[in-house]
Amino acid sequence: MIEIVPYDDTVTCIKTGTEIDGKVIIWAYSYLIGDTLFDAGCPNAIEEFMEFVSSNPVKHVYVSHAHEDHTGGCSALADNATIYAAPQTSDVLKNPEILPDFFVMVWGQPEPVSAVAPMPDHFTVRGLDFEVVPLPGHNKDMVGFYESRRGWLFSADAVPLPSRKQLSMPDENIPQTIATLEKIQALNLNVLFDSHAGPIESPRRHIQTRIDHLKDLQTKVRELHNKGRSVPEIIDDLQIEGPWYVDMTKGRFGIDYVIRSLIYDKASQSR
Ligand SMILES: [Zn+2]
Repeated sequence: MIEIVPYDDTVTCIKTGTEIDGKVIIWAYSYLIGDTLFDAGCPNAIEEFMEFVSSNPVKHVYVSHAHEDHTGGCSALADNATIYAAPQTSDVLKNPEILPDFFVMVWGQPEPVSAVAPMPDHFTVRGLDFEVVPLPGHNKDMVGFYESRRGWLFSADAVPLPSRKQLSMPDENIPQTIATLEKIQALNLNVLFDSHAGPIESPRRHIQTRIDHLKDLQTKVRELHNKGRSVPEIIDDLQIEGPWYVDMTKGRFGIDYVIRSLIYDKASQSR
C-alpha cells in the first residue's frame, strides 16, 4: 500500500509497504521534490506508486542502494524517467537477485531495470543543491543526498532503525557503519530524511544513541574475542536474542554477522 504525506512545501514523503491483516509490516520512505525522486519504494506497492506518478510526473530517480525496499518502482519509472545509481547498485538494478519468500512477502520481488545512468556528484532540484555523499557500511556503495544550506540529508539506511542494532546482512560492515554515522553527525543536520523512520528533525540525539550502542557492543565483543570466546559463545555471553523472524530470512539477516563484522571488519576512509 501507499501513503502520501507532505513534509513541507518542498518535500513529499511517499510511504510504501505491504499490508497484512490491516497492518503495514514496515514502511519504506521515498521522497519527492518537484519531478525528482529519492528512492522508489517497495515492489509490492508498484501499481499504487505508478498511479501516484501518473498525476505527479517523475523525471529523475536517484537510488541510494540496491535493496528491494528502495528500488521497487524503478523498472516501471524507467519508461519516463532517468534512473541514477552508483556502479554496484546499477548492476543489481539491471539484474536483481531472486529474493527468499519471506522478503517477497515483506517487500516484493523487483523487476529488472532496462537503463541506468551513472550517479553524478551533484545535482540541483528546485534551487536546492544536492551533494551525493558516500554512506558505506549498511551497503558498500550506498549514497545519501545532502543539501548543506538547509541542513538536510536523505540518508537511506545509514542510520539503523532500532536504537540497539542486533541484526545485519552478511555484507554489512559495522565498523564502517559507525564511521559513517560519525561523518553524518559532523554535518550538524536540521533534518535527517530516514528511509524507515521518516523525517527526523534535530536528529543529533537519535544518531548518537545508535553510535553509542554500536561502539559499546564493539568494545564488549572485542574483549570477549580477545579472551578466546567464539562467535556463538559471545552471542550467549551478551545474551543477544534475535527477533522472531530471523530464521525466516534464510540467512539474509543474522546476529552472528554483526558480531563477526565487529571483530574482523575495519572502516576504510571515505570522503
Ligand atoms: Zn538497505
